[in-house]
Amino acid sequence: MDGRMTRSGDPTLRLAVHPYREGWATHPAKGPVDECGVFGIYGHPEAARVVYHALIALQHRGQESAGIVTADGANLYTHRGLGLVSDVFEKPESMARLVGEIGIGHVRYATYGASRLGNAQPVVVNTRRGGLALAHNGNLVDAPVIRHRLEEGGAIFTTAIDTEVLAHLIVRSRAASIEEAIVDAINQVHGGYALLILTEDRLVGIRDPHGIRPLQLGRLNGSWVLASETCAFDTIGAEFVREVAPGEMITISEHGKLRSQSVVKEPARPRPCIFEFIYFARPDSNLAGVNVHSVRKAMGRELAREAPADADIVIGVPDSSISAATGYAEESGIPYEMGLIKNRYIARTFIMPTQTGRESALKLKLNPLRKVMEGKRVVLVDDSIVRGTTSRHLVKLLREAGAREVHMRIASPPYRYSCPYGIDTAQSGELIARGREVDEVRDAIGADSLAYLSLEGMVKATGLPVDGPGGFCVACFTGDYPVPIPEDLDKYMLEGGKGR
Ligand code: AMP
Repeated sequence: MDGRMTRSGDPTLRLAVHPYREGWATHPAKGPVDECGVFGIYGHPEAARVVYHALIALQHRGQESAGIVTADGANLYTHRGLGLVSDVFEKPESMARLVGEIGIGHVRYATYGASRLGNAQPVVVNTRRGGLALAHNGNLVDAPVIRHRLEEGGAIFTTAIDTEVLAHLIVRSRAASIEEAIVDAINQVHGGYALLILTEDRLVGIRDPHGIRPLQLGRLNGSWVLASETCAFDTIGAEFVREVAPGEMITISEHGKLRSQSVVKEPARPRPCIFEFIYFARPDSNLAGVNVHSVRKAMGRELAREAPADADIVIGVPDSSISAATGYAEESGIPYEMGLIKNRYIARTFIMPTQTGRESALKLKLNPLRKVMEGKRVVLVDDSIVRGTTSRHLVKLLREAGAREVHMRIASPPYRYSCPYGIDTAQSGELIARGREVDEVRDAIGADSLAYLSLEGMVKATGLPVDGPGGFCVACFTGDYPVPIPEDLDKYMLEGGKGR
């Protein structure tokens, strides 16, 4: 689909939209949100094969498109496509072409309206300094404004994604070396990002100044690897070395020499995204040195202490809430039961463009176990409520399956603000907790009771030595955006995230 089309397919509806700001009018279009997974390797004889396996491990971070670019010291080799990693690289020829010992890969999350091959990453450009490929997880909040400026100066864009803005900035830099040009470009943009850049003979990894998006460094025998999540290292047999620091740029060049430098002018307070812990990352990954499953379980325990329920069984919404639900069950002493069966072959319901689409996909995806549910008072634990589609549907489903009472418990606080840093949730106007008190949300989803985990309880559950919520990006719960959104952004936004 062309990035300028609206969800309804009406190309005339090219309204300027800004999904994050308070009070913006509800509009079916989306901003340039790219919630994705990245992986890079330097110095492996079968770089493409390793990237492929790592991308499969990161598939949960994006199912819309996948791509790999490799380099052999002189040229770049690219293969990208729409769909799952295994589909995109189904034909052996597509892998065989990807020669070289350096490589980067990307999986992209579906954001409706911008789903087309042209938006698949890595973005590849030919420059006077040679070929350059960029793979990016996150979102640059000022990309539309910069894009507008560049387009006015004659720049031509071929995708709707902000990664291309970075490519332009790198190419335009007058700096002597490619590393300096990258630093130049990075200093002109703001947002939450984990970025991998491949040149013909080097690999660069950068994490945003607040460390909002995750990036990990590892070692696979003699090769260096960089990944969004540590589960990719486990899959390929790599060893975790450390997290890339907020604002750090790592360059790996000849013979695997690793150089680290800070690319931020003024150090910023680290504020990693708490939603990675809540929902997005895989439970077998570690973030900031702590295991995601353990954190989710601790969130469930905390929730049980804060919001007990008089009930017979606890069930979780597969898969992301199972950890929290087991924590809730253990702490409360109420037995955990397998109450919902998930059909693994149904794509994520969250990303369906229409409400009817989301609802019917949910029916296909989750089925309650009537035998377990009949006559029971059920605690239903989910990691989050965004639009409320899932909770509303599940409460009804459990009642139809015989549940006597349904007590909804959410292992995170009310989600009230849209994310501008790369987590694709709904726009603010669609968020069910926006402008509603908890009991109003309870009524809207039809539960007997509803309780959310407190902000403090959530932070405590991470076990990390931070001084409260300010040690994370918790903007989706509080509206406190660590990276300011440009005031005049609305002027530059078009449907599909294209700059005007
Ligand atoms: P909703 O149905 O809109 O209330 O979305 C909440 C459900 O979607 C919960 O079951 C979450 O596990 C899941 N979820 C939360 N955030 C996301 C996200 N960014 N992408 C996909 N699913 C999500």
